[in-house]
Amino acid sequence: MNNYGIDIWGDDNFIIEKDKVLLNYENKPSLISLVNEIREQDYKGPLLLRFPHLINKQINKLYTLFDNAINEYEYKGKFNAVFPLKVNQLPNFLHPLIKAGEKFSYGLEAGSKAELFLAMTYNKIGAPITVNGFKDKEMIHIAFLAKKMGHNITLIIEGLNELKTIIEVEKETNLVSPNVGLRLRLFNQGGGAWAKSGGIDSKFGLSSTEILEAFDMLKEHNLIHNLTMIHFHIGSALNSIQPLKKALKESGHIYAELINLGAINLRAINIGGGLNVEYSAYKRTAQYNFQEFANDVVFTLKNISRQKGVEEPDIFTESGRFISASSTVLITPVLELFSADYGKKALRLKDDNPPLIKELIDLYEDINSKTALEFMHDSIDHLESLLKLFDLGYIDLVDRSNAEVLTQLIIKKAISLLEVDDYDELKRIENKIQEKYLLNFSIFQSLPDYWGINQEFPIMPLTHLDKKPTRSASLWDITCDSDGEIAFDSEKPLYLHDVDLEKEEYFLGFFNVGAYQDILGMRHNLFSHPTEINIVFKNEKVICEKILESQKIIDILEDIDYDTNEIINILKNRLDKDMYKILDKYLNENSYLKTTGN
Ligand SMILES: *Cc1c(COP(=O)(O)O)cnc(C)c1O
Repeated sequence: MNNYGIDIWGDDNFIIEKDKVLLNYENKPSLISLVNEIREQDYKGPLLLRFPHLINKQINKLYTLFDNAINEYEYKGKFNAVFPLKVNQLPNFLHPLIKAGEKFSYGLEAGSKAELFLAMTYNKIGAPITVNGFKDKEMIHIAFLAKKMGHNITLIIEGLNELKTIIEVEKETNLVSPNVGLRLRLFNQGGGAWAKSGGIDSKFGLSSTEILEAFDMLKEHNLIHNLTMIHFHIGSALNSIQPLKKALKESGHIYAELINLGAINLRAINIGGGLNVEYSAYKRTAQYNFQEFANDVVFTLKNISRQKGVEEPDIFTESGRFISASSTVLITPVLELFSADYGKKALRLKDDNPPLIKELIDLYEDINSKTALEFMHDSIDHLESLLKLFDLGYIDLVDRSNAEVLTQLIIKKAISLLEVDDYDELKRIENKIQEKYLLNFSIFQSLPDYWGINQEFPIMPLTHLDKKPTRSASLWDITCDSDGEIAFDSEKPLYLHDVDLEKEEYFLGFFNVGAYQDILGMRHNLFSHPTEINIVFKNEKVICEKILESQKIIDILEDIDYDTNEIINILKNRLDKDMYKILDKYLNENSYLKTTGN
């Protein structure tokens, strides 16, 4: 039975049992039971389920991996980690993350002023804060104030100007400077889809000449004791460990040389993020396992330290995707199947049908597992001929409709009869015969990386998993944009079930959407965030908490700076009082569709 690659991307977080996908935790609720519970409270449209226990799991895993490596190699440096806020800043994600990280002193990384404010507010005093990205004087001043609050904060400079500004702010304010880190522009570049974060022509970091200049400047202004960290980030979702090893060597040598030059408090190498997440339903993309990754980091740094005679550095990581992706699942109701109407009842057969239609009827009635392929091909040929006959005026619209319905029926029946070894052939024809599933969501809002960089996400139905999915599926969202589609890809085919939505509901889950999607999502067509729920467990019982309903239409309009009183007044004037009441109710609902109860 099709398991939708859950063994590849699922990491045992979800399991299939009988016909359903279950959360593999505590009392193992099915996802559909969670969905039903939430929808009973009248939340319709797409849902975003967050699972804080999975954030917890990933943080634990990260620290365990490095603890193991440190023990194995008797490494003397410590391990520290921060969560890069850009990956997900939303409160319903961030609060559980901070709670889960407390016992490790897990910190936060900020890349903008707004993120820095979040870090200053919510980071536990003592847990590290690192600040990356381009900074102006104001941002640097804010970091000094964070230090003043008692935060363990490191400003990682991207260029010499930032260092000059730090020196200025220190002089002007008489505040104690935060620690300083240097972002290295390495020669060795990362791999994967986001490789341009590293490498000699990277947008970020200091060249070796600039590193030496930075060192001199720090020394000259008596700030050398503040230099505590060097940093690099070679890219996201690394699928190979080789570029990291090279970057570690390069940065390890820079670290050792700076210490030997007199950077007395330099003690950490921050290796950025980049731990991979599996998104594919078909094959693993990472060519390493996570323990291997941690072992390589520790082992490489140990060797360089020994070779250069310096203390083994503390290790910082900033993995974001790895920590957050698995914790969120997007669930979308299927609103419609675009050829579902092509049931037998749609036929309008005449007393006397054209010969080719009669043949289609025979094919449909006589098809069996041996003839399935042949009859399917015949039916497609017949359909093409019949369409030509229509163009020439020899058959009418009713005949044409019958031809389309019959061909669909034959293909459906053929697929259900086909044997496994017909698979290649099936692949060839299924492009022609896809079912289009209309989903109540917006790709632009909820899967922006699919739209922007063609990032695939694991997709599976929440139910029907005991039945063979027979339809090659392309997925449509409800925006009026032709990019709002996940087209069928015969290289990585998605098959879904042939369902009758009049009789049953059908929901799709999109997994591993907890990294980047929440905040990159955009309000194309003015669709806003889906309704969000945190799923937590108390005494073995599931609790749906922190329900945050998808934004009301009127609030979306306010967000883009409309004068909502004006809107209301204009509309009010155009209807009588009672009618307006009805309209007002709609204005105060979210913009997702509500057809067929979905
Ligand atoms: C984006 C970013 C990260 C996070 O990368 P992931 O691939 O999500 O782990 C870490 N550090 C820096 C500097 C970043 O810009």
